Amino acid sequence: MLETWNSSIVPILYMVACIFFIRGIKLLGKADTARKGNLFSSIGMLIAVVTVLTEKGVINSFSTNLGRNGYVYIAAAILIGSVIGIIWSKKVAMTGMPELVALFNGFGGLSSLLVAIAQFVSTEKGDKFTAVTLGLTIAIGAIAFTGSVVAWGKLSGKLFKKQIRIPGKNVINAVLAIGGLAGIALYAFSSDPTLELIGIIVVTAAFLILGITMVVSIGGGDMPVIISLLNAFSGLAAAFAGFAINNTVLVVSGCLVGASGLILTLIMCKAMNRTLYNLLFGNFGGGAKKTASGEAKEPKSMSVEDAYLILEAAKNVVFVPGYGMAVAQAQHAVKELCDKLENNGAEVNFAIHPVAGRMPGHMNVLLAEANVPYEQLKTSDEMNPQMSMVDVAIVIGANDVVNPAAKDDESSPLYGMPIVNAYEARTVFVLKRGKGTGFSGVENPLFTNDNTVMIYGDAKQTVSALVSEFDD
Ligand code: NDP
Repeated sequence: MLETWNSSIVPILYMVACIFFIRGIKLLGKADTARKGNLFSSIGMLIAVVTVLTEKGVINSFSTNLGRNGYVYIAAAILIGSVIGIIWSKKVAMTGMPELVALFNGFGGLSSLLVAIAQFVSTEKGDKFTAVTLGLTIAIGAIAFTGSVVAWGKLSGKLFKKQIRIPGKNVINAVLAIGGLAGIALYAFSSDPTLELIGIIVVTAAFLILGITMVVSIGGGDMPVIISLLNAFSGLAAAFAGFAINNTVLVVSGCLVGASGLILTLIMCKAMNRTLYNLLFGNFGGGAKKTASGEAKEPKSMSVEDAYLILEAAKNVVFVPGYGMAVAQAQHAVKELCDKLENNGAEVNFAIHPVAGRMPGHMNVLLAEANVPYEQLKTSDEMNPQMSMVDVAIVIGANDVVNPAAKDDESSPLYGMPIVNAYEARTVFVLKRGKGTGFSGVENPLFTNDNTVMIYGDAKQTVSALVSEFDD
C-alpha cells in the first residue's frame, strides 16, 4: 500500500501542487487577481507539505518513543514558526514590511542551507551530481542569508547606516567565490571524509562572508535590484536543495521563485539603467556625499492656503508619491484630494517610479488600497514626455526618485538612475516634513529650483488640509 502511495499517488499530488504554484504565480502578476494568486499558491504549498509528510522517508521517522519521533519535531517546528510568524506580521508597521520581506528572504536561504547541512551530516554522500548540488545549495543559501540580513539592516536603519566602501572589493569577492567553489569541488570529488568536511566548512564560510561583502557597499538606487536578486537566490537555493534531497516539488517551486526573481531583477536593472555586472562589480551607490555640487540655496516654502489657490486654477495635476507617503499613510487623503481636483475640472494622474518607496510595487499597493483607479497610475516613462504640460506636480514624500542630480551630476551616487521629471512641471509642490534626505542620503537640487515650493509638514496632514481648503 505504502509502495503504491509513494510510486503513483505522491508524484500526482506533487504535480497538482506544482499546477497550483504556476497558476498562483500567474494570478499574482495583476493587482486585481493577486489575492486569488496568493490563495492558489498557499493551497499548492499545503498539498506539497502534506504529501511530503506522508512519504516513506518521513513515515519511517514515526516512533512510539516521542523523543525519537520525527513528527513531534516537525509539529513543534511548525507551531513555533507559525506563532512567531503570526505575532511578527501582526506587529509590523506597513512601513516595516520591506525589511521584513528582506529578512524572510534570508530565512528562505538559511533553511536551504540547513537542509543541505542536515543531508551532509545524516546521510551517505550521493553521486557526484547530487554532491555538487548539495554544495551549491549551501553556497547560494549562505549568500542569500547573510546578504538579506545586511539588506534588512540597511532598510531598517539598524545596521550599516553609513555607506561602506570595501577597498579591493572585487578582488576579495573573487577570492571568496573561487575559494568557495573549490570547497564544493573538494567535497564532491574527494572520498576522504576529513577532506569532505573541510570542503563543506570552506564553502559555508566563504559564501556566508561573500553575502556580506557583496551587499554591504550597495546603496542608493541599487538596493531594490539587489533585494530582488537575493530573492532569486533564495529560490535557486531551494531548487538546488530539491536536487540534493531528491524532492521534485522543491525543485519546481524553487525554480519558479528563482526564475521570477531573476526576471524581476532584469526588469529592475533595465528600469534603473543598470546592468547586473555594474551592480555586482561596479561602485554604484558607494560614494554617497551629503551635498550636491553648487551653491547652498535655500528652498522656498508656501502655506497650504496659498498652495490651494494655485491648485484651484490647475487644469493638469500629477502626483508623484514616494516613501514619505507610506510613512504618513497619506494614500486615502491623496485619493480625496484627487477627487476634489477632478470635480474642479482638472485632469489628475500619478507618476509611479519603479523604485519609489521601499519595495517593488509599494506605491501601487497603497494607492490601490485607497481605490485610486488603475488607469490613473502611470509609469515614469509614460508621464515624463507630458511633464512640461503639467500645471502642478505634487511630490508627496518622494525624494531620490525626483532628484535631477541623477541626470546631470556625474559625481552623484544616483547618477544614471532614471527619475520622474517632476522638475519640468510648471509648478512643483514638495510635501515633506523638513530637510531630511532620501534613502540614498544625498541632497536634492529640485528643492531649490525657481518653480519649486516646499509645503512642510507630515504628508497626510498637509494633504488633508488642502482637501479642507476645497471644502471651505
Ligand atoms: P526617499 O527615501 O528618497 O525619500 C523619502 C522622503 O520622504 C524623505 O526625504 C523624507 O523627508 C520624506 N518623508 C518621510 N516621512 C514623511 C512624512 N510623514 N510626511 C512627509 N514626508 C515624509 O523616497 P523615494 O520613494 O523618493 O525613493 C525611494 C528610495 O528607496 C530610492 O533611493 C530607492 O532606491 C530606495 N529603495 C527602494 C526600494 C524599492 O524596492 N522600492 C527598496 C530599497 C530601497 P523628511 O524626513 O524631510 O520628511
